Amino acid sequence: MEFDLKDKFLEVGRFIAENKSRMHDRAPSVWMNPALPSCRFCQQENSAKPVIQEKKKQINWLFLLLGQLLGCCTLEQLKYFCKHTKNHRTGAKDRVLYLTYLGLCKQLDPTGPFDR
Ligand SMILES: [Zn+2]
Repeated sequence: MEFDLKDKFLEVGRFIAENKSRMHDRAPSVWMNPALPSCRFCQQENSAKPVIQEKKKQINWLFLLLGQLLGCCTLEQLKYFCKHTKNHRTGAKDRVLYLTYLGLCKQLDPTGPFDR
């Protein structure tokens, strides 16, 4: 399964630009409980759960961002990402997830509206 980088990033970026002021530094429920893609074999909706590498170093953060599937990560995995992007932060999953989204977007477009 693959995502179109430009299309999907525009989608995420637009969502953030439109909703950031209402998020109050917390991931909204569509990020916390992401709608999963349909299975491409049996077409069952909301069923293609991403396989997240056990070794955190190998997690495909970009793929999860573009699919807006970062909410499938555990709190521990998200904290790992934030630690390695100098967004060191403890807190509830919605806060760490929010930071992960913004941090990844900022990596892709440092001039975008992704400062927290
Ligand atoms: Zn299936």
